Amino acid sequence: MSRNRLTVVLSQAQGKHPIKRALEESIVAALIMESGLEVSVVPYLYDLGPDHTGRLFLESIRGDMVLLSWLFPRAAYWVLDRDGIKGQWGESQLKSPHADDDEEAGEPPPPKGIGALDVPGRHIYCLDLRDFNQHDPYVNEIRRIAQECQERHDKKHAEKATAHAPLVQLGLNLGNGASPGTAVPGLFLQPAGRRWYPVIDYSRCTNCMECIDFCLFGVYGVDGLERILVENQDNCKKGCPACSRVCPEQAIMFPDYKTPAIAGAPVGAIGNLKIDLTKLFGGAEKDALSQAVEERDRELVADGRHAVGASVGIPKRQDKSVNQPKDDLDNLIDALDSLEL
Ligand code: SF4
Ligand code: SF4
Repeated sequence: MSRNRLTVVLSQAQGKHPIKRALEESIVAALIMESGLEVSVVPYLYDLGPDHTGRLFLESIRGDMVLLSWLFPRAAYWVLDRDGIKGQWGESQLKSPHADDDEEAGEPPPPKGIGALDVPGRHIYCLDLRDFNQHDPYVNEIRRIAQECQERHDKKHAEKATAHAPLVQLGLNLGNGASPGTAVPGLFLQPAGRRWYPVIDYSRCTNCMECIDFCLFGVYGVDGLERILVENQDNCKKGCPACSRVCPEQAIMFPDYKTPAIAGAPVGAIGNLKIDLTKLFGGAEKDALSQAVEERDRELVADGRHAVGASVGIPKRQDKSVNQPKDDLDNLIDALDSLEL
């Protein structure tokens, strides 16, 4: 059986944080000693523009890949997808020590999104560098992933050999057909300016178009199949996450935003409910829609335009909430009412 080479890409943190740099360096130093791995380093993934050599390198990888970054894995995976760097979701067994026990209490509901298009069979595993401050957990997990990828590769190879056996007996040379990553690994560390734009998680996005109705800055568009996309990402207003609050599916992420739910933290079975509970029990947090409207108005005024308040882009949702069956939060409120607290 041929050896499957696994590409490992470490995406650096923004800035020059010495502790983060030390962790990055110790991981790379440990990984380059491992056989069967191609190790490369690129700047902060979210900031890579289409012409950056790090982005071009990522685009050139064909085989299985591990991406280590300072982003939530869900955000990193969909940033890659947005950039056309696609693959099957590789399930990491490295669990964050910061994960809330509650989040693991229930299985997340099955994804009901429209899904990504043109996803090849290779796998992409995203690991979060904020989870551990030592290189060992990452190196051990990458060893495990390399083994998993090798087993998958061997299985595919064996199936292909079986399928081709009669033709080989006829003397036809089909080649092995395997041409995993031909990219040349290395360091791709030209500076990358900071960027700010929404990233869509298509495993959750239902194509409801609430975001395109809400955003008044021309960021969203639709493709030839009438699927929502982030069309003019640099039109987005830096630091503003307004549309992520409007999305009914938590499908819009701003990976650099301070609130984990918006930055791409896993959405668990009761994730949405937990966020709503903080409001329900008198938290200072404003209602998400009012907050989004306020944030959008602020950006409109900063652009020299008029504030529109709640008059544009959200009636559809309000109508729906009136006409649709009760959701989890409604049921919870009903249950609390019945307790007569
Ligand atoms: S609002 Fe959310 S679910 Fe609806 S189209 Fe936009 S990203 Fe998709
Ligand atoms: S954050 Fe604001 S400007 Fe950016 S895409 Fe969302 S609504 Fe549009």
